[in-house]
Amino acid sequence: MGRQAQAATFRHFGRAMRMFAPVYLSNECVNGCLYCGFSHKNAIPRITLAPDVVEKEARHLLAEGFRNILLVAGEHPQKTSIDYLEKCVKQLRQLDVPSINLEIGPQSTENYRRLTAAGAEGLVIYQETYDRETYRRLHPIGPKQDYEWRLQTPHRAAEAGFRRVGIGALLGLHDWRQEALAMAAHLDELQRKWWQTLFTVSIPRLRPAAGRFTPPSPVSDRDLIQLVCALRLAFPQAGIVLSTREPAPLRDILAQIGVTMMSAGSHTDPGGYTQPAATPTIEPEDHSPEQFAVADNRSAREVTARLRQLGYDPVWKDWDACLN
Ligand code: SF4
Repeated sequence: MGRQAQAATFRHFGRAMRMFAPVYLSNECVNGCLYCGFSHKNAIPRITLAPDVVEKEARHLLAEGFRNILLVAGEHPQKTSIDYLEKCVKQLRQLDVPSINLEIGPQSTENYRRLTAAGAEGLVIYQETYDRETYRRLHPIGPKQDYEWRLQTPHRAAEAGFRRVGIGALLGLHDWRQEALAMAAHLDELQRKWWQTLFTVSIPRLRPAAGRFTPPSPVSDRDLIQLVCALRLAFPQAGIVLSTREPAPLRDILAQIGVTMMSAGSHTDPGGYTQPAATPTIEPEDHSPEQFAVADNRSAREVTARLRQLGYDPVWKDWDACLN
């Protein structure tokens, strides 16, 4: 499977590896997801960055070479309202960030239209788990309890004109093979209906975070590699996204099998790049303001140097709005 997956990746993506970095806008959230460090019941320092601080974070990433920035926020109708999100996107567009992506609470099609009009290119929304019973148990409070609304979110995003839409399951919450099948069915349905939209799939594994949640269905490294192979063989042209949740040696292996887009040098707390004092790190796994603990602590420069050593081309920019 590994050899076939690698060959399929070369055929459709060559040796390009698209690089991105997240900017965490806010760790305030009205939901109580049992597995997340930002869950509203966790006693962590809460912060929402002002748009000019978001710009500062983006400038830091631009200086490192990034041109693809993912804005991440918890779901909070007041703190991260649609007006606030629109403002952040506009601020980054003025900075000439060609690819602005969002990972935020589900919105209406109308709100998504405001964000695409402001200059956002992509949206990422994970179902977390496709198993309805597990989903119900892990989301005891907040608007995220609505499974259907979340499941239909990629459709609304495509309808609103996002050029790229990412889906995924948080691995470790439920049997990974069942999640893989459900995710594949979801992706297949989306690709058929919204054939002009580029879909990507993410494979985040649960990491330690505030709240000390223990994954009920752990996924081994071998399972994760098998999943990447299976996704690549089933969807030869879909981008596969890998974050810094995984340790460096495993990321190096997955990059050579089927992953086509990865983050590097990430901070998963608001202000993490330029304002470390704003969110003091207390006890990891207890009161840490990070959403999850990063496992690959290499800088962006170190990751890209390693990719080149492995024969890959790190790509910082592959899109500009003038191509629309
Ligand atoms: S997973 Fe998302 S919605 Fe759930 S608590 Fe964390 S930030 Fe909020």
